[in-house]
Amino acid sequence: MANLTGSCACGTVKYEVTSPPLKHAICHCVQCRKATGSAFSTNTVVPRPAFQLIAGVPNTQTYTFIQAESSIPFTLRFCTTCGSTVVKVSEHESFRDVALVAAGTADVGFDTLKADTEFWTVHRAGWLGAVEGAVE
Ligand SMILES: [Zn+2]
Ligand SMILES: [Zn+2]
Repeated sequence: MANLTGSCACGTVKYEVTSPPLKHAICHCVQCRKATGSAFSTNTVVPRPAFQLIAGVPNTQTYTFIQAESSIPFTLRFCTTCGSTVVKVSEHESFRDVALVAAGTADVGFDTLKADTEFWTVHRAGWLGAVEGAVE
């Protein structure tokens, strides 16, 4: 399989992932909703060293939020031109070896990035069904 590639909305920040994804996780927590402005975040979980920015590094800033229920801090790296978050990382022991790529920034569509895991389904919108086959 070819390396996963992606970019922010304006194309300033570009990345590639040099090994296969470990997991495709969506998160319904309040912080992810706020940070994405959407009903949930879509995260392609990859080994940390496999995520490589290939353009736009100087335009990438960070913002850290603390996931309220778990108290886990996540740092978002986003394009300062268009505001798209491209990747999220955490030094918490459960996440320190991985990078959570914002899946919507990938160049491939979601048919190849189907969620296999759902987090914080207690916050899932009532009108949204569970993802078939996903672990909650
Ligand atoms: Zn951008
Ligand atoms: Zn979340």
